[in-house]
Amino acid sequence: MAAEDKRIGVYIHIPFCASKCGYCDFCSLPGRDKLMGPYQDAVLIQLQETLPRMKDYFMDSVYIGGGTPSYYGAKRLTEILRELKSTSRLLKAAEITVECNPDSVRRRELKMLRDEGVNRISIGAQSANDELLRLIGRRHNWRQVVLAVKRARQAGFKNISLDLIYGLPSQTREDWADTLAKAIALKPAHISCYGLRLEEGTPMYDEYNDSPMIPSDDDQADMYLYAVDLLERHGYYQYEISNFARRGYESRHNLKYWRLGDYIGFGASAHSNIGMLRYSYTSNVREYISGVLGDKDIIDEQEELTDFDRASEYLMLGMRTIWGISREEYLAVYNSPFEPLEEMLNTFAENGWAALDNDRWHFTPGGFLVSNVLIGALLESQTRERFNANPWIREAFETQGRRVPLPTVTEPYMN
Ligand code: SF4
Repeated sequence: MAAEDKRIGVYIHIPFCASKCGYCDFCSLPGRDKLMGPYQDAVLIQLQETLPRMKDYFMDSVYIGGGTPSYYGAKRLTEILRELKSTSRLLKAAEITVECNPDSVRRRELKMLRDEGVNRISIGAQSANDELLRLIGRRHNWRQVVLAVKRARQAGFKNISLDLIYGLPSQTREDWADTLAKAIALKPAHISCYGLRLEEGTPMYDEYNDSPMIPSDDDQADMYLYAVDLLERHGYYQYEISNFARRGYESRHNLKYWRLGDYIGFGASAHSNIGMLRYSYTSNVREYISGVLGDKDIIDEQEELTDFDRASEYLMLGMRTIWGISREEYLAVYNSPFEPLEEMLNTFAENGWAALDNDRWHFTPGGFLVSNVLIGALLESQTRERFNANPWIREAFETQGRRVPLPTVTEPYMN
């Protein structure tokens, strides 16, 4: 591949929020504004040290997520973007996204970001029901979501995405329908719908785990399928388990994750994947700052992927999207029989969970609904095939008393 053809996405993590939402287990610190200055110094130093070594790459997407980047402030975000631009490797056509929360969206700051080249805004709206917003610890109400969208448009943003959550405590299907209708009425280019996940260690886990206030699995399934149908009817096609867009407004940065593209992350807890190298930084913000400023190690995990790892990811991530997977691509990533997988996919198709179009296997909405289980079955079949072809691997594992490793399926983050 010619040097000029190499593309990379850049992720910058901003781990600061005004307060902590009840369901949040992301790397974000509430009310630690004093750390923002040193954190910014650390991120800029890291960029200055790393970017000159990425001469083979052009940056075609930038995603500033968190945390709450809009709370961190447009001035700091602008400095970060200028650092990226100073390399002359940030493509003019790059998709540049900034995550915002409705309570920290200011017109002047949005304009600053737009002038600096940011062309996509992702707003954490979550629900149109103010009661529910309060219950889950959000700091804003729906009126502020409407205002945030209006301000983003006034600042010149066409590509606006809204994040929504379903399956909230005491949420009814009617309530979810109302949220969807109000979100659609705002005419965003992109909508993400995530099911609530109660993560251990969060206040909402303690309060609602096993609680009857959480909608049942059946009710959540109804909410999900209702969203798929309604959004489709309003011109938002489902291109990933949780993501819906008007044609041409798919998140190009997130597509890079699902299509095994290269990406590099900066900031606490940021992950990178370049070729077969995968690494992440510490999620302890203080450790990250002192590590970068004191020239100490900030790597949390690092691994060299094998072809088998890559093939598992190809299955796991590819099947999250509407484009799915193909025999040809699978063989290019991992030269091993596709037939066992195809056999299983045929069974899925008989149940209405998968379909084959133009030589590509993909899930139907019903398949997306149970995709964790289906992808788990595909991965197991792949692992079985690997052991059948290489019995020594199983023996090696068994003599070391280790369990057969299976990759885990994770949900994308939400803000
Ligand atoms: S959910 Fe988002 S806004 Fe809320 S605390 Fe977590 S990162 Fe911050």
